[in-house]
Amino acid sequence: MSKVVCGLADIKKNSDYIVEITGMNHEGQGVGRIDNFAVFVEGATTGELVEIKLIKVAKNYGVGKLLKILRPSPSRTSPFCSAYKRCGGCSLQHIDYKAQLEYKTDLVRETVRRIGKLEDVLVHDTIGMERALNYRNKAQYPVASVKGEVVIGFYAKRSHDVIPSDECGIQDKTSNRVREIVRDFIIKNGISVYDETKGEGLVRHLMTRKGFRTGEVMVVIVINGKGLPEKQKLVEALTSNIKEVKSIMLNINTKNTNVILGEKNIKIYGSDTITDYIGKFKFDISPLSFFQVNPVQTEVLYNKALEYAGLTGKETVFDLYCGIGTISLFLSEKAKKVYGVEVVEAAVLDARKNARLNGVTNVEFMVGEAEKVVPDIYSRGVTADVVVVDPPRKGCDASLLETLVNMRPERIVYVSCNPSTLARDLGYLAEKGYRAVEVQPVDMFPHTAHVESCVLITRDEK
Ligand code: SAH
Repeated sequence: MSKVVCGLADIKKNSDYIVEITGMNHEGQGVGRIDNFAVFVEGATTGELVEIKLIKVAKNYGVGKLLKILRPSPSRTSPFCSAYKRCGGCSLQHIDYKAQLEYKTDLVRETVRRIGKLEDVLVHDTIGMERALNYRNKAQYPVASVKGEVVIGFYAKRSHDVIPSDECGIQDKTSNRVREIVRDFIIKNGISVYDETKGEGLVRHLMTRKGFRTGEVMVVIVINGKGLPEKQKLVEALTSNIKEVKSIMLNINTKNTNVILGEKNIKIYGSDTITDYIGKFKFDISPLSFFQVNPVQTEVLYNKALEYAGLTGKETVFDLYCGIGTISLFLSEKAKKVYGVEVVEAAVLDARKNARLNGVTNVEFMVGEAEKVVPDIYSRGVTADVVVVDPPRKGCDASLLETLVNMRPERIVYVSCNPSTLARDLGYLAEKGYRAVEVQPVDMFPHTAHVESCVLITRDEK
């Protein structure tokens, strides 16, 4: 087997190399070079010298499997999950939290410069969590039979093999307890579990949701059938062991699909929804409703959006890609009127319900694509002083940005989950007289490579 020190190499698949890791890519993989050939190495971090096996050679890059760390980084730390190497959920557990936050800040800074071609934007340090563990309020565990044993765990990286896990460190602790109880119930009562390849067996997934502020817990058993035998025993086991359980639902999913939830829910205990708060606003959460998974950091991010919106009470605001209207509610207190636009009808129905629940009357929600709805209402004379956008990973549609530029709002607040498309859109807006002034990255998903950002963009000339 050849072992070649970086700098003198032929590029050969399945050969071993020693590589200096000089940076990290947007997926959190270490980046090194063999001569000028870039290689990505999962589990390696900046400043490390590592031995790798080159397992993939593509045209412009290669992928290395980490064999040995010859010189570890001072920020290297032991992952807190036993399943870390096999589970695909987190990718940064091998570096300490401070280094994770620095990585996210650097990623946003670099991307804004490189893709957006913007040199003078102030990118603040990423706001992290005080306690970056057990932060998720929603868990979805696949249920399977592995070598005759019932396993409720996680899909292994890039596969549908279900692996057991003692405890997931980023999930709320209650979900780990629920998992044990449900597994016990399935085994004791001989309930069948779903086999994906055959499309047979009853229990497919376990989902838990928790209101962090209220403590209320919802348990959802996703089944491939009409009902759950011995369901009273499950209700009894869950409610006697975990007093916070307020709702137990069956969700029916008989389709051969990767989509976890079906459309129909049957309540077997308690209420149909649980309640939680973000900031002062209250939300009813059902099995299917969208709700941010890290409510603590969501509040930080949305307060930043509100601050950047700079409202005085006189403004008309558009909240585009508004989901269930959380940002709209935050804005409503300080704005004259808020229009929310969202393409998923169910989310808009929830948004309207949430507004009613909170007694908010100056918001109006519309169903449709932002790039169609905004030109339409603008042509009918509705304009905004401030626009907030919170698009999915692909960013804003170019035609939407064009309409916004023509409408000439004073400021645009851009909430983004993808630095690359954010930088592209900021670049476009800069050419049209809308300058990105400051960027605040917020860590919504500690130990993963995801980073959210909130950007203040103002109109150059008055
Ligand atoms: N701000 C929201 C979350 C936004 S996530 C909240 O606080 O809950 C992005 C949202 O954009 C999703 O709800 C998605 O359904 C919606 N979306 C995707 N493409 C869209 C489009 N072209 N027009 C409007 N909404 C869109």
